[in-house]
Amino acid sequence: LSAAEAGPHDILKLYNTKGSIINISPNLEANTLQTRYKLEVVAVDCKSEVIGLDLAAALGIDLCAMEKRLQELEKKVLGMTGAMPSIVYEMRNRVETFREKLESVEHLSWLGLFKELTEGTDKLSHFYHNRPLRKSEEECQQVLEKYLQMSTLEVTKDVKQYLKTPTFNNWYWEDAEMMVLLQLMYTDLDFTTKFNIEMEVLQQFLSDVYRHYNNIPFHNFKHCFCVTQMMYGLIWLTDLQSNMDDIDILTMLTSAICHDLDHTGYNNAYQINARTELALRYNDISPLENHHCAVAFEILEKPGSNIFRNLTTEQYKRIREGMIKCILATDMTRHNDILNRFRAILPVFDFNNKEHKDILTMIIIKVSDISNEARPMDVAEPWLDCLLQEFFNQSDKEKLEGLPVSPFMDRDKVRKSSSQTGFIRFVLLPLFIELANLFPNLEQHLIDPVRKALDYYTEMENALEMGKQSQAGSEKGAKVSEKDTEKPKSGEQPEHKKPEKATQLRAVTGSVSHKAKAVRSPQNSDKK
Ligand SMILES: [Zn+2]
Repeated sequence: LSAAEAGPHDILKLYNTKGSIINISPNLEANTLQTRYKLEVVAVDCKSEVIGLDLAAALGIDLCAMEKRLQELEKKVLGMTGAMPSIVYEMRNRVETFREKLESVEHLSWLGLFKELTEGTDKLSHFYHNRPLRKSEEECQQVLEKYLQMSTLEVTKDVKQYLKTPTFNNWYWEDAEMMVLLQLMYTDLDFTTKFNIEMEVLQQFLSDVYRHYNNIPFHNFKHCFCVTQMMYGLIWLTDLQSNMDDIDILTMLTSAICHDLDHTGYNNAYQINARTELALRYNDISPLENHHCAVAFEILEKPGSNIFRNLTTEQYKRIREGMIKCILATDMTRHNDILNRFRAILPVFDFNNKEHKDILTMIIIKVSDISNEARPMDVAEPWLDCLLQEFFNQSDKEKLEGLPVSPFMDRDKVRKSSSQTGFIRFVLLPLFIELANLFPNLEQHLIDPVRKALDYYTEMENALEMGKQSQAGSEKGAKVSEKDTEKPKSGEQPEHKKPEKATQLRAVTGSVSHKAKAVRSPQNSDKK
Protein backbone atom coordinates (compact mmCIF):
# COMPACT_ATOMS: atom_id res chain seq x y z
CA LEU A 1 0.00 0.00 0.00
CA SER A 2 1.55 3.30 -1.00
CA ALA A 3 0.92 6.46 0.97
CA ALA A 4 -1.12 7.89 -1.87
CA GLU A 5 -3.62 5.04 -1.54
CA ALA A 6 -3.95 5.29 2.24
CA GLY A 7 -7.45 5.10 3.67
CA PRO A 8 -8.96 6.98 6.61
CA HIS A 9 -7.99 4.29 9.15
CA ASP A 10 -4.38 3.85 8.10
CA ILE A 11 -1.51 5.38 10.00
CA LEU A 12 1.09 7.28 8.03
CA LYS A 13 4.50 8.37 9.13
CA LEU A 14 6.86 10.87 7.65
CA TYR A 15 10.58 10.09 7.50
CA ASN A 16 13.58 12.16 6.52
CA THR A 17 16.35 10.83 4.29
CA LYS A 18 18.08 9.26 7.29
CA GLY A 19 14.97 7.27 8.03
CA SER A 20 14.13 9.13 11.23
CA ILE A 21 10.51 9.91 11.99
CA ILE A 22 9.72 13.62 11.83
CA ASN A 23 6.79 15.59 13.10
CA ILE A 24 4.57 17.47 10.71
CA SER A 25 4.55 21.01 12.00
CA PRO A 26 4.69 24.60 10.71
CA ASN A 27 8.47 24.45 11.30
CA LEU A 28 8.93 21.61 8.88
CA GLU A 29 11.53 22.58 6.33
CA ALA A 30 10.62 22.30 2.67
CA ASN A 31 12.19 19.25 1.12
CA THR A 32 14.36 19.27 -1.95
CA LEU A 33 15.29 16.65 -4.49
CA GLN A 34 18.28 15.77 -2.31
CA THR A 35 16.42 15.77 1.00
CA ARG A 36 13.26 14.07 -0.05
CA TYR A 37 10.78 13.19 2.69
CA LYS A 38 9.26 9.78 2.63
CA LEU A 39 5.63 9.20 3.58
CA GLU A 40 4.87 5.64 4.53
CA VAL A 41 1.87 3.62 5.62
CA VAL A 42 2.93 1.99 8.87
CA ALA A 43 -0.31 0.37 9.98
CA VAL A 44 -3.31 -0.46 7.91
CA ASP A 45 -6.95 -0.22 8.85
CA CYS A 46 -6.40 0.36 12.53
CA LYS A 47 -10.11 0.26 13.26
CA SER A 48 -10.42 -3.36 12.34
CA GLU A 49 -10.47 -6.12 14.90
CA VAL A 50 -7.86 -8.21 13.13
CA ILE A 51 -5.36 -9.43 15.68
CA GLY A 52 -2.55 -10.22 13.35
CA LEU A 53 -4.08 -13.01 11.46
CA ASP A 54 -3.57 -11.02 8.29
CA LEU A 55 -0.35 -12.85 7.71
CA ALA A 56 -1.97 -16.23 8.20
CA ALA A 57 -4.68 -15.24 5.76
CA ALA A 58 -2.04 -14.13 3.31
CA LEU A 59 -0.46 -17.53 3.63
CA GLY A 60 -3.78 -19.16 2.94
CA ILE A 61 -4.22 -20.46 6.46
CA ASP A 62 -7.48 -19.99 8.24
CA LEU A 63 -6.26 -20.20 11.81
CA CYS A 64 -9.62 -19.31 13.32
CA ALA A 65 -11.37 -22.13 11.50
CA MET A 66 -8.60 -24.50 12.55
CA GLU A 67 -8.95 -23.54 16.17
CA LYS A 68 -12.73 -23.82 16.09
CA ARG A 69 -12.51 -27.24 14.52
CA LEU A 70 -10.01 -28.30 17.15
CA GLN A 71 -12.28 -27.06 19.91
CA GLU A 72 -15.18 -29.05 18.51
CA LEU A 73 -13.03 -32.13 18.31
CA GLU A 74 -11.85 -31.65 21.86
CA LYS A 75 -15.40 -31.42 23.11
CA LYS A 76 -16.36 -34.55 21.22
CA VAL A 77 -13.40 -36.52 22.50
CA LEU A 78 -14.01 -35.32 26.02
CA GLY A 79 -17.64 -36.35 25.75
CA MET A 80 -16.76 -39.76 24.38
CA THR A 81 -13.90 -40.74 26.63
CA GLY A 82 -14.31 -38.50 29.64
CA ALA A 83 -10.62 -37.67 29.46
CA MET A 84 -8.46 -35.75 27.06
CA PRO A 85 -5.88 -37.91 25.28
CA SER A 86 -2.43 -36.38 25.20
CA ILE A 87 -2.46 -36.27 21.42
CA VAL A 88 -5.18 -33.62 21.58
CA TYR A 89 -3.05 -31.56 23.95
CA GLU A 90 -0.20 -31.85 21.54
CA MET A 91 -2.35 -30.69 18.66
CA ARG A 92 -3.65 -27.74 20.60
CA ASN A 93 -0.11 -26.91 21.60
CA ARG A 94 0.99 -26.89 18.02
CA VAL A 95 -1.82 -24.65 16.88
CA GLU A 96 -1.06 -22.28 19.73
CA THR A 97 2.64 -22.21 19.08
CA PHE A 98 1.90 -21.48 15.47
CA ARG A 99 -0.44 -18.66 16.39
CA GLU A 100 2.13 -17.23 18.74
CA LYS A 101 4.77 -17.41 16.06
CA LEU A 102 2.56 -15.61 13.60
CA GLU A 103 1.71 -12.93 16.07
CA SER A 104 5.28 -12.37 17.05
CA VAL A 105 6.90 -12.46 13.65
CA GLU A 106 7.39 -8.74 13.86
CA HIS A 107 8.61 -9.06 17.38
CA LEU A 108 11.15 -11.67 16.40
CA SER A 109 12.65 -9.31 13.91
CA TRP A 110 13.69 -7.23 16.89
CA LEU A 111 16.06 -9.94 17.90
CA GLY A 112 18.13 -8.79 14.99
CA LEU A 113 17.72 -5.20 16.05
CA PHE A 114 21.27 -4.66 16.98
CA LYS A 115 22.87 -6.54 14.23
CA GLU A 116 21.43 -4.26 11.60
CA LEU A 117 21.09 -1.11 13.54
CA THR A 118 20.89 1.10 10.51
CA GLU A 119 18.19 -0.75 8.64
CA GLY A 120 16.50 -2.51 11.48
CA THR A 121 15.28 0.17 13.83
CA ASP A 122 12.87 2.21 11.81
CA LYS A 123 10.49 -0.61 11.03
CA LEU A 124 7.33 -0.60 13.03
CA SER A 125 5.48 -3.51 14.44
CA HIS A 126 2.14 -3.69 12.68
CA PHE A 127 0.90 -6.44 14.87
CA TYR A 128 1.30 -4.69 18.16
CA HIS A 129 -0.29 -1.59 16.77
CA ASN A 130 -3.22 -3.59 15.53
CA ARG A 131 -3.64 -5.97 18.39
CA PRO A 132 -6.24 -4.87 20.91
CA LEU A 133 -4.71 -3.91 24.24
CA ARG A 134 -7.05 -5.95 26.40
CA LYS A 135 -7.32 -9.69 26.10
CA SER A 136 -10.53 -10.85 24.51
CA GLU A 137 -12.88 -13.08 26.45
CA GLU A 138 -12.15 -15.86 23.97
CA GLU A 139 -8.43 -15.48 24.43
CA CYS A 140 -8.78 -15.71 28.21
CA GLN A 141 -11.26 -18.56 28.13
CA GLN A 142 -8.88 -20.74 26.14
CA VAL A 143 -6.01 -20.27 28.54
CA LEU A 144 -8.12 -20.46 31.68
CA GLU A 145 -9.86 -23.67 30.65
CA LYS A 146 -6.52 -25.19 29.93
CA TYR A 147 -5.16 -23.97 33.26
CA LEU A 148 -8.02 -25.50 35.18
CA GLN A 149 -7.57 -28.79 33.35
CA MET A 150 -3.87 -28.82 34.08
CA SER A 151 -4.20 -27.67 37.67
CA THR A 152 -5.34 -31.11 38.67
CA LEU A 153 -2.12 -32.66 37.46
CA GLU A 154 0.83 -33.39 39.66
CA VAL A 155 3.92 -31.30 39.06
CA THR A 156 7.13 -33.31 39.20
CA LYS A 157 9.78 -32.85 41.85
CA ASP A 158 12.28 -31.63 39.27
CA VAL A 159 9.98 -28.88 38.07
CA LYS A 160 9.24 -27.86 41.65
CA GLN A 161 12.93 -27.57 42.36
CA TYR A 162 13.65 -25.79 39.07
CA LEU A 163 10.94 -23.26 39.89
CA LYS A 164 13.00 -22.15 42.89
CA THR A 165 16.05 -21.21 40.83
CA PRO A 166 16.85 -17.88 39.17
CA THR A 167 17.90 -19.77 36.04
CA PHE A 168 14.28 -20.73 35.30
CA ASN A 169 13.53 -20.23 31.61
CA ASN A 170 10.07 -18.76 31.13
CA TRP A 171 10.23 -19.04 27.34
CA TYR A 172 9.61 -22.78 27.50
CA TRP A 173 6.26 -22.42 29.26
CA GLU A 174 2.92 -21.31 28.01
CA ASP A 175 0.53 -19.09 29.91
CA ALA A 176 -1.72 -21.87 31.26
CA GLU A 177 1.33 -23.70 32.58
CA MET A 178 2.67 -20.58 34.23
CA MET A 179 -0.65 -20.25 36.03
CA VAL A 180 -0.27 -23.78 37.35
CA LEU A 181 3.19 -22.83 38.58
CA LEU A 182 1.91 -19.69 40.31
CA GLN A 183 -0.67 -21.85 42.05
CA LEU A 184 2.11 -24.22 43.02
CA MET A 185 4.00 -21.38 44.72
CA TYR A 186 1.09 -20.82 47.10
CA THR A 187 0.80 -24.50 47.90
CA ASP A 188 4.55 -25.16 48.18
CA LEU A 189 4.96 -22.26 50.59
CA ASP A 190 2.10 -23.82 52.51
CA PHE A 191 -0.01 -20.66 52.27
CA THR A 192 -3.15 -22.53 51.23
CA THR A 193 -3.14 -24.35 54.58
CA LYS A 194 -1.77 -21.63 56.79
CA PHE A 195 -4.19 -18.98 55.55
CA ASN A 196 -7.00 -21.30 54.66
CA ILE A 197 -7.06 -20.31 51.00
CA GLU A 198 -9.58 -22.46 49.14
CA MET A 199 -8.27 -23.85 45.86
CA GLU A 200 -11.26 -22.51 43.87
CA VAL A 201 -10.65 -19.03 45.24
CA LEU A 202 -6.95 -19.15 44.47
CA GLN A 203 -7.75 -20.28 40.94
CA GLN A 204 -10.34 -17.55 40.48
CA PHE A 205 -7.88 -14.99 41.79
CA LEU A 206 -5.15 -16.12 39.40
CA SER A 207 -7.64 -16.15 36.52
CA ASP A 208 -8.69 -12.57 37.27
CA VAL A 209 -5.07 -11.55 37.44
CA TYR A 210 -4.46 -13.20 34.09
CA ARG A 211 -7.34 -11.31 32.48
CA HIS A 212 -5.96 -8.02 33.70
CA TYR A 213 -2.54 -8.29 32.11
CA ASN A 214 -2.62 -6.77 28.64
CA ASN A 215 -1.33 -7.71 25.21
CA ILE A 216 1.79 -5.57 25.25
CA PRO A 217 5.39 -6.50 24.44
CA PHE A 218 6.91 -6.30 27.91
CA HIS A 219 4.63 -5.56 30.86
CA ASN A 220 2.44 -8.57 30.19
CA PHE A 221 1.49 -11.72 32.07
CA LYS A 222 4.83 -13.36 31.29
CA HIS A 223 6.60 -10.47 33.00
CA CYS A 224 4.28 -10.88 35.98
CA PHE A 225 5.24 -14.53 36.09
CA CYS A 226 8.98 -13.87 35.82
CA VAL A 227 9.00 -11.28 38.58
CA THR A 228 6.98 -13.56 40.84
CA GLN A 229 9.18 -16.53 40.02
CA MET A 230 12.33 -14.56 40.83
CA MET A 231 10.80 -13.45 44.10
CA TYR A 232 9.83 -17.05 44.84
CA GLY A 233 13.42 -18.08 44.13
CA LEU A 234 14.73 -15.35 46.42
CA ILE A 235 12.39 -16.45 49.19
CA TRP A 236 13.93 -19.93 49.09
CA LEU A 237 17.51 -18.84 48.46
CA THR A 238 17.48 -16.45 51.40
CA ASP A 239 15.52 -18.84 53.59
CA LEU A 240 13.21 -15.92 54.24
CA GLN A 241 10.62 -18.07 55.97
CA SER A 242 12.88 -18.54 58.97
CA ASN A 243 13.35 -14.78 59.41
CA MET A 244 10.01 -13.31 58.42
CA ASP A 245 6.37 -14.01 59.20
CA ASP A 246 4.38 -16.02 56.70
CA ILE A 247 2.03 -13.11 56.32
CA ASP A 248 4.91 -10.90 55.13
CA ILE A 249 5.94 -13.48 52.56
CA LEU A 250 2.34 -13.94 51.42
CA THR A 251 2.20 -10.17 50.99
CA MET A 252 5.38 -10.14 48.91
CA LEU A 253 4.37 -13.00 46.64
CA THR A 254 0.92 -11.56 46.01
CA SER A 255 2.40 -8.10 45.41
CA ALA A 256 4.72 -9.53 42.77
CA ILE A 257 1.78 -11.19 41.01
CA CYS A 258 -0.21 -7.95 41.03
CA HIS A 259 2.57 -5.41 40.55
CA ASP A 260 1.91 -4.50 36.88
CA LEU A 261 -1.83 -5.25 36.55
CA ASP A 262 -3.45 -3.50 33.59
CA HIS A 263 -0.22 -1.88 32.42
CA THR A 264 -0.93 -0.24 29.07
CA GLY A 265 2.63 -0.15 27.77
CA TYR A 266 3.20 3.57 28.33
CA ASN A 267 5.20 4.67 31.32
CA ASN A 268 4.48 7.34 33.93
CA ALA A 269 6.27 10.05 31.98
CA TYR A 270 3.88 9.44 29.10
CA GLN A 271 0.85 9.31 31.41
CA ILE A 272 1.81 12.65 32.89
CA ASN A 273 2.79 14.38 29.64
CA ALA A 274 -0.27 13.12 27.79
CA ARG A 275 -2.47 13.98 30.81
CA THR A 276 -4.11 10.59 30.72
CA GLU A 277 -6.99 9.56 32.89
CA LEU A 278 -4.58 7.80 35.23
CA ALA A 279 -2.38 10.86 35.64
CA LEU A 280 -5.44 12.96 36.38
CA ARG A 281 -6.81 10.45 38.85
CA TYR A 282 -3.58 10.08 40.77
CA ASN A 283 -2.34 13.67 40.43
CA ASP A 284 0.82 12.61 38.60
CA ILE A 285 1.99 10.64 41.64
CA SER A 286 3.07 7.16 40.45
CA PRO A 287 -0.07 6.92 38.28
CA LEU A 288 0.73 3.44 36.99
CA GLU A 289 1.76 1.84 40.27
CA ASN A 290 -1.27 3.33 42.01
CA HIS A 291 -3.41 1.86 39.27
CA HIS A 292 -1.80 -1.62 39.42
CA CYS A 293 -2.45 -1.69 43.13
CA ALA A 294 -6.02 -0.42 42.85
CA VAL A 295 -6.81 -3.09 40.24
CA ALA A 296 -5.36 -5.71 42.57
CA PHE A 297 -7.70 -4.74 45.37
CA GLU A 298 -10.63 -4.48 42.99
CA ILE A 299 -10.02 -8.15 42.22
CA LEU A 300 -9.67 -8.96 45.90
CA GLU A 301 -12.93 -7.16 46.68
CA LYS A 302 -14.82 -9.97 44.94
CA PRO A 303 -15.39 -12.70 47.52
CA GLY A 304 -14.87 -15.42 44.90
CA SER A 305 -11.39 -14.10 44.13
CA ASN A 306 -10.40 -12.91 47.57
CA ILE A 307 -7.62 -15.24 48.64
CA PHE A 308 -7.47 -13.31 51.93
CA ARG A 309 -11.12 -13.81 52.79
CA ASN A 310 -10.46 -16.17 55.65
CA LEU A 311 -8.00 -13.85 57.36
CA THR A 312 -8.84 -11.70 60.36
CA THR A 313 -9.50 -8.01 59.82
CA GLU A 314 -6.15 -7.26 61.42
CA GLN A 315 -4.32 -9.64 59.11
CA TYR A 316 -6.09 -8.24 56.05
CA LYS A 317 -5.20 -4.71 57.08
CA ARG A 318 -1.57 -5.69 57.41
CA ILE A 319 -1.50 -7.37 54.01
CA ARG A 320 -3.21 -4.44 52.31
CA GLU A 321 -0.78 -1.99 53.85
CA GLY A 322 2.15 -4.19 52.82
CA MET A 323 0.97 -4.74 49.26
CA ILE A 324 0.42 -1.02 48.71
CA LYS A 325 3.97 -0.36 49.96
CA CYS A 326 5.47 -3.09 47.78
CA ILE A 327 3.66 -2.21 44.56
CA LEU A 328 4.23 1.53 44.91
CA ALA A 329 7.92 0.80 45.52
CA THR A 330 8.25 -0.48 41.95
CA ASP A 331 8.08 3.08 40.60
CA MET A 332 11.67 3.55 39.43
CA THR A 333 11.61 7.26 40.16
CA ARG A 334 11.76 6.25 43.83
CA HIS A 335 14.74 3.97 43.24
CA ASN A 336 17.47 6.04 44.89
CA ASP A 337 15.32 6.99 47.81
CA ILE A 338 14.48 3.37 48.65
CA LEU A 339 18.03 2.13 48.04
CA ASN A 340 19.49 4.82 50.30
CA ARG A 341 17.06 3.96 53.07
CA PHE A 342 18.10 0.34 52.79
CA ARG A 343 21.80 1.26 52.87
CA ALA A 344 21.24 3.29 55.99
CA ILE A 345 19.70 0.42 57.96
CA LEU A 346 21.92 -2.37 56.61
CA PRO A 347 24.67 -2.15 59.25
CA VAL A 348 22.10 -2.56 62.02
CA PHE A 349 19.55 -4.64 60.15
CA ASP A 350 17.10 -6.30 62.49
CA PHE A 351 14.41 -8.75 61.37
CA ASN A 352 12.36 -7.81 64.42
CA ASN A 353 12.16 -4.19 63.35
CA LYS A 354 9.05 -3.55 61.26
CA GLU A 355 10.52 -0.59 59.41
CA HIS A 356 13.57 -2.64 58.47
CA LYS A 357 11.42 -5.49 57.21
CA ASP A 358 9.26 -3.09 55.20
CA ILE A 359 12.26 -1.66 53.41
CA LEU A 360 13.65 -5.14 52.78
CA THR A 361 10.38 -6.26 51.16
CA MET A 362 10.47 -3.20 48.92
CA ILE A 363 14.06 -3.99 47.95
CA ILE A 364 13.21 -7.61 47.17
CA ILE A 365 10.29 -6.73 44.91
CA LYS A 366 12.44 -4.10 43.18
CA VAL A 367 15.20 -6.63 42.62
CA SER A 368 12.71 -9.15 41.26
CA ASP A 369 11.11 -6.56 39.00
CA ILE A 370 14.34 -5.71 37.22
CA SER A 371 16.04 -9.08 37.53
CA ASN A 372 16.04 -10.16 33.90
CA GLU A 373 19.77 -9.56 33.53
CA ALA A 374 20.40 -11.94 36.42
CA ARG A 375 18.99 -14.71 34.28
CA PRO A 376 20.89 -16.75 31.72
CA MET A 377 21.59 -14.80 28.55
CA ASP A 378 19.18 -16.81 26.41
CA VAL A 379 16.40 -15.95 28.84
CA ALA A 380 17.37 -12.34 29.39
CA GLU A 381 18.07 -11.17 25.89
CA PRO A 382 14.61 -11.69 24.37
CA TRP A 383 13.24 -9.70 27.31
CA LEU A 384 15.44 -6.77 26.38
CA ASP A 385 14.03 -6.88 22.87
CA CYS A 386 10.51 -6.87 24.29
CA LEU A 387 11.34 -3.91 26.48
CA LEU A 388 12.86 -1.95 23.62
CA GLN A 389 9.85 -2.70 21.52
CA GLU A 390 7.54 -1.32 24.19
CA PHE A 391 9.79 1.74 24.52
CA PHE A 392 9.77 2.29 20.77
CA ASN A 393 6.01 1.97 20.61
CA GLN A 394 5.82 4.68 23.25
CA SER A 395 8.32 7.03 21.62
CA ASP A 396 6.56 6.61 18.27
CA LYS A 397 3.31 7.57 19.91
CA GLU A 398 4.97 10.51 21.64
CA LYS A 399 6.34 11.72 18.35
CA LEU A 400 2.96 11.38 16.71
CA GLU A 401 1.31 13.29 19.52
CA GLY A 402 4.03 15.91 19.75
CA LEU A 403 5.01 14.96 23.31
CA PRO A 404 8.51 14.96 24.79
CA VAL A 405 10.42 11.76 23.99
CA SER A 406 12.77 10.13 26.48
CA PRO A 407 16.11 9.53 24.75
CA PHE A 408 16.35 5.99 26.14
CA MET A 409 13.12 5.14 24.32
CA ASP A 410 13.91 6.81 21.03
CA ARG A 411 14.52 4.27 18.29
CA ASP A 412 16.78 6.80 16.62
CA LYS A 413 19.02 7.19 19.64
CA VAL A 414 18.93 4.05 21.74
CA ARG A 415 21.61 1.40 21.49
CA LYS A 416 21.03 -1.96 22.96
CA SER A 417 24.52 -2.28 24.41
CA SER A 418 24.99 1.18 25.86
CA SER A 419 21.50 1.27 27.29
CA GLN A 420 22.28 -2.00 29.06
CA THR A 421 25.76 -1.20 30.33
CA GLY A 422 24.51 2.02 31.86
CA PHE A 423 21.51 0.37 33.42
CA ILE A 424 23.50 -2.54 34.82
CA ARG A 425 26.32 -0.37 36.16
CA PHE A 426 24.32 2.38 37.74
CA VAL A 427 21.03 0.76 38.66
CA LEU A 428 21.17 -3.03 38.79
CA LEU A 429 24.52 -3.79 40.37
CA PRO A 430 24.34 -1.18 43.16
CA LEU A 431 20.89 -2.51 44.12
CA PHE A 432 21.75 -6.19 43.89
CA ILE A 433 25.01 -5.74 45.78
CA GLU A 434 23.22 -4.21 48.75
CA LEU A 435 20.79 -7.12 48.92
CA ALA A 436 23.72 -9.54 48.70
CA ASN A 437 25.29 -7.73 51.62
CA LEU A 438 22.42 -8.97 53.71
CA PHE A 439 22.27 -12.41 52.06
CA PRO A 440 25.81 -13.32 50.95
CA ASN A 441 24.80 -16.43 49.01
CA LEU A 442 23.01 -14.22 46.49
CA GLU A 443 26.44 -13.21 45.23
CA GLN A 444 26.66 -16.36 43.15
CA HIS A 445 22.99 -16.51 42.14
CA LEU A 446 22.41 -12.86 41.25
CA ILE A 447 25.58 -10.81 41.08
CA ASP A 448 27.73 -13.19 39.04
CA PRO A 449 25.28 -13.51 36.13
CA VAL A 450 24.70 -9.74 36.14
CA ARG A 451 28.47 -9.13 35.92
CA LYS A 452 28.62 -11.53 33.01
CA ALA A 453 25.85 -9.66 31.25
CA LEU A 454 27.72 -6.42 31.87
CA ASP A 455 30.89 -7.88 30.34
CA TYR A 456 28.90 -9.06 27.35
CA TYR A 457 27.31 -5.70 26.66
CA THR A 458 30.55 -3.83 27.36
CA GLU A 459 32.34 -5.95 24.82
CA MET A 460 29.56 -5.26 22.37
CA GLU A 461 29.85 -1.55 23.01
CA ASN A 462 33.63 -1.59 22.60
CA ALA A 463 33.40 -3.48 19.35
CA LEU A 464 30.93 -0.92 18.05
CA GLU A 465 33.15 1.92 19.18
CA MET A 466 36.16 0.34 17.48
CA GLY A 467 34.10 -0.18 14.39
CA LYS A 468 33.17 3.48 14.34
CA GLN A 469 36.74 4.58 14.85
CA SER A 470 38.20 2.41 12.16
CA GLN A 471 35.46 3.56 9.86
CA ALA A 472 36.34 7.15 10.59
CA GLY A 473 40.06 6.39 10.25
CA SER A 474 40.07 4.76 6.86
CA GLU A 475 37.81 5.62 3.97
CA LYS A 476 37.23 1.96 3.37
CA GLY A 477 36.14 1.52 6.96
CA ALA A 478 36.51 -1.87 8.51
CA LYS A 479 32.95 -2.52 9.44
CA VAL A 480 32.45 -4.05 12.81
CA SER A 481 28.93 -4.75 13.81
CA GLU A 482 27.55 -6.08 17.02
CA LYS A 483 27.30 -9.35 15.20
CA ASP A 484 31.04 -9.70 15.61
CA THR A 485 31.04 -9.66 19.38
CA GLU A 486 30.59 -13.20 20.42
CA LYS A 487 27.98 -14.09 22.92
CA PRO A 488 29.33 -15.94 25.92
CA LYS A 489 29.34 -19.62 25.18
CA SER A 490 26.54 -21.42 26.81
CA GLY A 491 29.03 -23.24 29.01
CA GLU A 492 29.99 -20.00 30.70
CA GLN A 493 26.43 -19.48 31.74
CA PRO A 494 25.31 -20.82 35.05
CA GLU A 495 24.14 -24.32 34.45
CA HIS A 496 20.42 -24.53 34.20
CA LYS A 497 18.43 -27.62 33.70
CA LYS A 498 15.66 -27.52 31.20
CA PRO A 499 13.24 -30.18 32.25
CA GLU A 500 11.02 -31.26 29.43
CA LYS A 501 8.21 -29.27 30.82
CA ALA A 502 5.42 -30.55 28.66
CA THR A 503 5.95 -34.15 29.55
CA GLN A 504 6.94 -33.52 33.13
CA LEU A 505 4.11 -31.23 34.03
CA ARG A 506 1.71 -33.51 32.33
CA ALA A 507 3.09 -36.65 33.81
CA VAL A 508 -0.37 -37.38 35.03
CA THR A 509 -0.60 -39.46 38.10
CA GLY A 510 -4.16 -40.40 37.51
CA SER A 511 -5.95 -39.06 40.52
CA VAL A 512 -7.99 -35.92 40.12
CA SER A 513 -8.41 -34.94 43.75
CA HIS A 514 -5.99 -32.08 43.66
CA LYS A 515 -6.96 -30.55 46.95
CA ALA A 516 -5.25 -33.07 49.12
CA LYS A 517 -2.35 -33.44 46.75
CA ALA A 518 -1.74 -29.79 46.14
CA VAL A 519 -0.84 -28.95 49.70
CA ARG A 520 2.81 -29.64 50.35
CA SER A 521 4.98 -28.88 53.25
CA PRO A 522 7.94 -26.76 52.25
CA GLN A 523 9.94 -28.22 55.11
CA ASN A 524 11.35 -31.11 53.12
CA SER A 525 14.62 -31.59 51.30
CA ASP A 526 15.00 -28.04 49.97
CA LYS A 527 15.50 -26.25 53.24
CA LYS A 528 18.75 -26.45 55.07
ZN1 LIG B 1 7.27 -4.92 36.48
